[in-house]
Amino acid sequence: MDKHELLRVAKSHYSQQQLEVLERAIDYATEMHEGQLRKSGAPYITHPLHVAALLIEWGMDIDTIVAGVLHDTIEDTPAALDHIEHLFSRDVAFLVDGVTKVSQARAGMRDLESYLPQTRDNLTKLLIAVGQDIRVIIIKLADRLHNMQTLQYKSPPKQKKIARETIEVFAPLADRLNMGRVRVQLEELSFQYLSPKEFANTKTLMASRLKKSKRKLERVRREVEDHLNQEKIPHEIDGRVKSVYSLYKKMKRVPNIDDIYDLMALRIVVDDVSTCYLVLGELHSMYEPMVDRIKDYIAQPKPNGYQSLHTTVIAHSGQPVEFQVRTHEMHDYAERGLAASFHYNEQKLSDAYKKGTIAQLPADLHWIADLQHAASLIKEGKEFNEEDLKVDLFGDRIFVYSPKGDIYDLPAGAFPLDYAYRVHSDVAARASGFMVNGKMEPFNYQLKHGDVIEVLTNKHAKPNQDWQQHIMTGHARMKLRAQLRKGGILGRLTNAAAIIQRKTAERRAKKRQKK
Ligand code: MN
Repeated sequence: MDKHELLRVAKSHYSQQQLEVLERAIDYATEMHEGQLRKSGAPYITHPLHVAALLIEWGMDIDTIVAGVLHDTIEDTPAALDHIEHLFSRDVAFLVDGVTKVSQARAGMRDLESYLPQTRDNLTKLLIAVGQDIRVIIIKLADRLHNMQTLQYKSPPKQKKIARETIEVFAPLADRLNMGRVRVQLEELSFQYLSPKEFANTKTLMASRLKKSKRKLERVRREVEDHLNQEKIPHEIDGRVKSVYSLYKKMKRVPNIDDIYDLMALRIVVDDVSTCYLVLGELHSMYEPMVDRIKDYIAQPKPNGYQSLHTTVIAHSGQPVEFQVRTHEMHDYAERGLAASFHYNEQKLSDAYKKGTIAQLPADLHWIADLQHAASLIKEGKEFNEEDLKVDLFGDRIFVYSPKGDIYDLPAGAFPLDYAYRVHSDVAARASGFMVNGKMEPFNYQLKHGDVIEVLTNKHAKPNQDWQQHIMTGHARMKLRAQLRKGGILGRLTNAAAIIQRKTAERRAKKRQKK
């Protein structure tokens, strides 16, 4: 990758003016990295240029591409941040600074045993610090992907260390952003370095199994294609093969590969949502569905925003075949995730970030808003619960619904009170019970994906200390603490008033006695 190749890749996506800025960035970074080499022996500049090329491939806006070119200049060269701000812009400087901080959090921890937990903590803190702009994380993912793609030049211990960090921290982050393609790339590369034998074995097993089923699957594909054409339903159909790493993970639960139905799935992409359901109906009229395997991720998206209809049917050969049905937009979002929101020179989302309004984020990515909220709290030196944020970033999330159908995004393991505080802290404060899916449930009920929750209130109910055991989100904890504190002070004030009243009464009584 050199200057001209990168400019050629960029050419069709950005304006002439933007391309000139990009060219200046390339020249500046080339000059700064002059004389530095990668472990492979290639000039160092090839790395940031590759990173920028990945970011273009992901469809990022020009500021992100420029920051990708400059991302290693602060750490590894004499370049200074204010100089970058002067030469380019405040936004570019902010992004480069964020990426540099994340890199520095990793430095200085050399001992592998303590490395990961510490890295995870430090990364979390830093992600919070840079949380005001999620593009920092996207640049970091591109940086990590290129480093993984060139990992063969590092020493074996370093390979393992970097691969482990990648699979435990960066791949889940990519998943959280619904950047499915990047997640799979990071996992496959990490798995190869972490468990080369298992990787090879799983790959061989998969190849032999695919060979057996490919012809049958091809027949099913043709049957479906003909049928949908007959019904005049415009569509695209292709096969997707499971990644080696996800097969390996699945085989820990399902040891016999013949029992795994989604090794290869057929994917049907159509124009709109109603056609998705239409196609599902057609599939079920052609083949017998395995009823318990029908999944509607369109009505109930996965917590990272993934949407599709999944169904497994029994083909005429007796072989189970999985289908995934989705629209073009859903497909794009499943592959590129949040990166799909920053469309090339369309600066909408970037501008929203600058203004500090994140209203334009997809509704299912509210954890990013949480992250930004926490970042602003820290800046103001206010209280927030860091533990909760770790859950937000690395844990699973669930979607629950209000009786009106509003969607709320909560960490897995959340309680009804967490939901109530999310709805409104005044509602939570008067909670006397919860109806979950039309049934009364206790305060210690753990919410499940898809639950519909109604908060029952009573004007005499009030928050109490025990509630602390039945909440898990930092938001609810913070609100509850504030309410308890307020209640405490009011309680004490009431108490003091009572004492004064009693003393006054006693004094008066004494006076009367004297008389
Ligand atoms: Mn780098």
